[in-house]
Amino acid sequence: MKVDFYGRFVGENEKKYVEDCLQSDLMSPQGYGKRAKEAAARALHSTEVLLTPSCTAALELAFKTIGLAQGQEVIMPSFNFPSAANAVINAGGKPIFCDIEGETQNISIQDLENKITDRTRAIVPIHYGGVAADMEKILAIAKKNKLLVVEDGAQGIGAFWNKIPLGTVGDMGAISFHATKNITCGEGGLLWTRQEFLDRANIHRMHGTNRHNFLNGECDRYTWNMWGSSYIPSEISCALLLSQLENLDRVTRHRVKIAQAYTSVLEKGEKEGKFCLMKIPDYAQYNGHIYYLRFENGKTRDRVMDNLRGQGIESKSHYFPLHSSPMGQSLGYKPSDLKESALCFETLLRLPIHCQMEENSAREVAQHILKML
Ligand SMILES: *Cc1c(COP(=O)(O)O)cnc(C)c1O
Repeated sequence: MKVDFYGRFVGENEKKYVEDCLQSDLMSPQGYGKRAKEAAARALHSTEVLLTPSCTAALELAFKTIGLAQGQEVIMPSFNFPSAANAVINAGGKPIFCDIEGETQNISIQDLENKITDRTRAIVPIHYGGVAADMEKILAIAKKNKLLVVEDGAQGIGAFWNKIPLGTVGDMGAISFHATKNITCGEGGLLWTRQEFLDRANIHRMHGTNRHNFLNGECDRYTWNMWGSSYIPSEISCALLLSQLENLDRVTRHRVKIAQAYTSVLEKGEKEGKFCLMKIPDYAQYNGHIYYLRFENGKTRDRVMDNLRGQGIESKSHYFPLHSSPMGQSLGYKPSDLKESALCFETLLRLPIHCQMEENSAREVAQHILKML
């Protein structure tokens, strides 16, 4: 049995849109950039959406838009990809790493509260695997301490917190369309922002100019107004993305079915204490981005991973905690600082979940795991 870890969804319209796009001048304001943006706006139930070349670029744009004073702190989980931490450093601030909850691998509310100081400016929750973080508590803490909430919703397209699309719950949010994500245009992303920040984000995104007003016919010429860069995806990427966004519901449904197939078999193993299944709290509507198990120790996890590999089934661990990376240590952290993050790196196992596999392969993989433990 061979099961790949990744399997990209391919829609009916990708080729058609790209070929059509190639007939254009690749810069029309009425082109695929506009259509993909409208499709993204529908998925996020909000028009305050800016397409970007990646989620990393969107996070950079978010922190440039907020503007961090030298040394201002932004709290985020250590169990994450480096994008948000880099974005904070690029904007002149300091990333502060906190631990995660062992049940969801999302930000630990207690540790978050412990890390707030008078220099804290913002919180970056991530929604690990497409399962919403506990936004009710995070928003309450933010309100009480007058902090901004910037969601690293990289994995969150098609998922919700209390029926609100992930990435649009806080003040700003970033989503990824990288090739490893549920829907993709190779490299791509978006920034959602509350109305209050939208104009500034638009200006930074287009070279520090008010070109967005010009393109909307609101003025005759545009000028350089403040710092900016280029955070604009190409028309070709947008053509691909449009077709993918049109299929978002289908992709999400398929992935959630795969997850349910795993759980239907693996529940038995959890009851027998062989591992813990991922937990999806009631407030979270999951998009099937990641399916994972956590084992009691690293030795068992590695044994399962090796055994699966021997069968042709690819599974993976996840993030080496940022705080114990060389960069994290140069920021002053010790590997022993955040225990759950370190343990998660050793004991978490991600199983294949994608649109190129069917429920029966998930059940077979699951049965194989039960057999070997
Ligand atoms: C994928 C991912 C990113 C990076 O997204 P890009 O679009 O590749 O820049 C950042 N954060 C998290 C949590 C991710 O999963």
